[in-house]
Amino acid sequence: MFTIGAHVSIAKGFKKAAQITVDMGANTFQFFSRNPRGGNAKEFNEKDLKAFQDIRKENNFGKLLAHAPYTMNLAAANDDTYDFAKKIIKEDIKRMDSIGVEYICFHPGSHVGSGVETGIKKIVDGLNQAITGEENITVLLETMSGKGTEIGRNFEEIKAIIDGVEHNEKIGVCMDTCHVFSAGYDIVNDLDGVLEEFDRIIGLERLKTIHLNDSMMPFNNNKDRHAGIGEGEIGMKAILEIVNHPKLKEIPFFLETPYDEDGHAREIEMIKNNI
Ligand code: FE
Ligand code: FE
Ligand code: ZN
Repeated sequence: MFTIGAHVSIAKGFKKAAQITVDMGANTFQFFSRNPRGGNAKEFNEKDLKAFQDIRKENNFGKLLAHAPYTMNLAAANDDTYDFAKKIIKEDIKRMDSIGVEYICFHPGSHVGSGVETGIKKIVDGLNQAITGEENITVLLETMSGKGTEIGRNFEEIKAIIDGVEHNEKIGVCMDTCHVFSAGYDIVNDLDGVLEEFDRIIGLERLKTIHLNDSMMPFNNNKDRHAGIGEGEIGMKAILEIVNHPKLKEIPFFLETPYDEDGHAREIEMIKNNI
């Protein structure tokens, strides 16, 4: 089943987000596990959740993806920031698992000068205190563009995190096309080569979701600026090669392009017309 959706707000509830998804012609969606700037998580509304689960079932949704807040830095050098991140990841893995969401992704973090090795150790410890091994949810590390001191700029760093996690059968990867492109993986001219490298270093079976974004910034400049599908430096031809690649066809795609619902609906239609 070809599975595609966009990032949708759950500010008006899960039911509303699911309805927007159906109206968009999509069959999955991504949403923030809590306010993207961090803070406290809202209580679930049982009635809203029930309606959401019904829509999800009736419309045969693919796997759903929650995104942890951007402010959560599990590699932080500052103790308060780090403790806050540990609390959020632990709570949100549990919260998202409790409502039957299949995946939660997060940005591994920025070491802010303490060094990649120290940062990776913190991320690993943070995940080990959060993952019990009893979850149904899979926790996804997102590939990053490598701006500033971001960890996850290459497949080796992602692999090092996975290797450190005790219950790493619960860990997967979310590949962001904009991020890998700006990190220097040439998905435009050598998609097969990039996937082979991913397979050799991490293992393709770990690749669970794709953030499908074009890039406003040129190749290999470590900048994270998403563009609309076909409107950036990656371009339509390469995007269509990605969604049609035999090794990726079972993987859900999520748009994080700078558009509203109507824009996402147009992008999804265009992609669906070309698979
Ligand atoms: Fe992200
Ligand atoms: Fe992303
Ligand atoms: Zn991004």
